[in-house]
Amino acid sequence: MTDPLNPGIAPAGNFIEQIIRDDLATGRVQKVVTRFPPEPNGYLHIGHAKSICLNFGLAAQYGGDCHLRFDDTNPEKESQEYVDAIVADVQWLGFAWSGEVRYASDYFGQLYQWALYLVDNGLAYVCELNGEQMRDYRGTLTQPGRPSPFRDRPSSESRTLLEAMRRGEVAEGAMTLRAKIDMASANINLRDPVLYRVRKVAHHRTGSDWNIYPSYDFAHGQEDAIEGVTHSVCTLEFAANRPLYNWFVEHLPLPSQPRQYEFGRLNLTHTMTSKRKLKQLVDEGVVDGWDDPRMPTISGLRRRGVSAAAIRQFCNSLAVAKTDGVVDIAQFEHFIRDDLNNNAPRAMCVINPLKVVVTNCQQGELLTVANHPNRPELGERQLPFDAELYIDAGDFSEDTTLSRKKFKRLVIGDYVRLRGGYIIRADEVVRDSDGAIAQLNCSLVEGTVGADGPDGVRPRGVIHWVSAIRSQPAELRLYDRLFNSPEADGGDGELLEQINPDSLKVVANARVEQSLGDAALGVTYQFEREGYFTREDSAGEQLVFNLTIGLRDSGRGQG
Ligand code: ATP
Ligand code: MG
Repeated sequence: MTDPLNPGIAPAGNFIEQIIRDDLATGRVQKVVTRFPPEPNGYLHIGHAKSICLNFGLAAQYGGDCHLRFDDTNPEKESQEYVDAIVADVQWLGFAWSGEVRYASDYFGQLYQWALYLVDNGLAYVCELNGEQMRDYRGTLTQPGRPSPFRDRPSSESRTLLEAMRRGEVAEGAMTLRAKIDMASANINLRDPVLYRVRKVAHHRTGSDWNIYPSYDFAHGQEDAIEGVTHSVCTLEFAANRPLYNWFVEHLPLPSQPRQYEFGRLNLTHTMTSKRKLKQLVDEGVVDGWDDPRMPTISGLRRRGVSAAAIRQFCNSLAVAKTDGVVDIAQFEHFIRDDLNNNAPRAMCVINPLKVVVTNCQQGELLTVANHPNRPELGERQLPFDAELYIDAGDFSEDTTLSRKKFKRLVIGDYVRLRGGYIIRADEVVRDSDGAIAQLNCSLVEGTVGADGPDGVRPRGVIHWVSAIRSQPAELRLYDRLFNSPEADGGDGELLEQINPDSLKVVANARVEQSLGDAALGVTYQFEREGYFTREDSAGEQLVFNLTIGLRDSGRGQG
């Protein structure tokens, strides 16, 4: 079976697929329904992409549906901006959810009815312990908890208080609704967990309708049940919540019986995947917003020039296992480069320009070059060649003793080929009054465009170049890792100390070939021998390009 979005790549047959196959075979499930349930409290990151690819991929593969549902039960931290960004990111990744976008907040009325049901059946009670007392009564991993003094109050009293909480007549923190389960359970999640808290906060969708909000645990499984989700796939940290998830399924009159399965979250070296900490980077101005190209967010990766296909292919290559693991960022970069190598049009950019005067060039001309070495369908472009050119200063050396093998670039008296153009010979260095190299006088070898040189004219290598007259100034934003250390977990307080101070270097006055003046925003090019760059906006006269990623090998000296 292949992923319809990534034909040719067979996703690893994982344990969740095995469960689904069994469920379909035994008839426990007729149609697979999964969901991706983000909380709109930040932008999506590469870790979420793994969950998205898994949930949408499973549905597509087994002829089912995948829902996009916002788990919007925490109004203080959530916003419409985040909802909009998440919707756009899931779409951009190439996935279509079935039906409308769904929201936990659409189910607040139903969830409240189920809370009343538990109260009426003696399975939940209103507790007046404050947070600190509640923690104290809860016990520890080694010690059982003690029952709250409010645990056995009559259900009618709990109902009256819950209704008062709902109407906003109870102060925040004064009361909670708790399930009556087992204060001695070895699983702390079952020690009378909180179902509702008083929070007099406006919600981005329900406004001031509610003065109480459900906990994650009380909301999540019931939302799944309302939507007929069959396989509720989440990350491992929720494994200990599963008995509680099942307790609700067992004790409430739900329309369906979803099941929860957990898989290992994606952790990447040098990469922070916690929305809370990413938000801190945004709020403290360490980065230029959620979509800063250094961010591991979907929007940051998009702005950097990483394609949705590369992200999907990477995610589909990952094991879906029952343990957490750390994946080397190099593995992700492999997919990014592979995609760009196949798809990015080629262009030339001279990062550190050195002027070359071609002394025997009578008049300028337009050379025709292919946009991609092995994809003719990507077309050709016109490359102006003039008597004044720029090459990169690093492509010339005054050391004429360097061997041809070691230095496949220009030295006085020897030849190189200009990519897509003539073979030239360096004749003379011209210096400024300080003795620095001001320009290089060269001569071209006639008839060598697309043809070998005559006997004795053998270029040391191929270098990139642009016309000095017909090219454009460009600003390059060279991004490096945001975190120096492979473990970018940013323990509290230390987050900022771990930031790589050189994660952004700006190079002004690079020169790009004339055709790039028409480059559309967001298009990624391979700047020959330099790396992959994506068109950003303009800064004054200069065209701006973001470094997407370097070439597989640096390209330098590769000829
Ligand atoms: P964060 O820790 O960044 O705040 P979260 O889990 O709180 O993430 P949610 O919006 O609740 O964020 O996540 C939506 C879904 O994405 C959940 O099912 C969650 O398990 C999954 N998810 C989040 N982070 C990862 C990750 N690193 N790898 C795989 N799945 C993830
Ligand atoms: Mg979460």
